[in-house]
Amino acid sequence: MLPPFDLHSHSTASDGTLAPDELVRRAAAGGVGTLALTDHDTLEGLAAARAAAAVVGIGLIPGVEISVTWEGLTVHLVGLHVDSGCRQLHAGLVGLREFRDWRAREMGRRLARDAGIADAYPGALALSNGQLVSRTHFARYLVAQGHAASVREVFTRFMKQGKPGHVPGQWAQLDQAVGWIRAAGGEAVLAHPARYPLTRSKLRRLIGEFREAGGVALEVISGSHNRDDAFHMARQAQAFGLLASAGSDYHGPEQPWIDLGRLPELPPGCRPIWGEWAAAA
Ligand code: AMP
Ligand code: MN
Ligand code: MN
Ligand code: MN
Repeated sequence: MLPPFDLHSHSTASDGTLAPDELVRRAAAGGVGTLALTDHDTLEGLAAARAAAAVVGIGLIPGVEISVTWEGLTVHLVGLHVDSGCRQLHAGLVGLREFRDWRAREMGRRLARDAGIADAYPGALALSNGQLVSRTHFARYLVAQGHAASVREVFTRFMKQGKPGHVPGQWAQLDQAVGWIRAAGGEAVLAHPARYPLTRSKLRRLIGEFREAGGVALEVISGSHNRDDAFHMARQAQAFGLLASAGSDYHGPEQPWIDLGRLPELPPGCRPIWGEWAAAA
């Protein structure tokens, strides 16, 4: 497995806009040596990504980003090196996709009832692969229909708690999601930890419970972290004895401020998760 590593990315299997093979080719062109495909709650894109990576000669790590509800807050776990044949992981993800499907329809009903937007669910569905609908698809549809100027604005105006498109619910539990990743032979990484609206003491509790459950790394470098976030999370990783991961969280060329192959270095003192993989190269 060759550096540089980009260990968090999305394809059209979830809410990315490039097909898995296109994503892999773009990563290779951008200089990535090893890419992890980590779609939300699905392993559907992995086979196509693996085939494309073999053609262009980069490493492809089979991954997933699992939605978790922890103390009422949605947090994400990235699983790396997961065996896509694992029945336990598969069953867990099926359950999450069932909830996701119900939530999408409910979001459509609420947007119709409370925001007067009649066709949000079919609109979002049409922008998805027809199997997995994300809030990102709703956001893109609402922007295309002129209800907001940007995806970000949709999240603020329609998706936050108390807004018409907000649907509460329960994703996986933290220890459950770590368990699925471990059952599949994978390594659990706490995704973009600086992004959660948590006090420092509550964030430490989250990291502690994550490690207790068997999590091994924090995503120190992320497309949604600034430099201060990265240094803060590097210190947390060291304090908790966790490894450090790095991923762009790339969703497609529509977000030009994030690209594959352009990640900053890990802050000094981090133990990179790929340090453990060298022998397996
Ligand atoms: P879902 O898993 O369907 O709830 O959607 C979560 C996805 O929405 C995340 O993975 C991001 O891609 C996107 N997202 C979440 N919050 C925001 C935001 N404030 N601005 C833009 N995209 C967001
Ligand atoms: Mn996403
Ligand atoms: Mn995420
Ligand atoms: Mn992501």
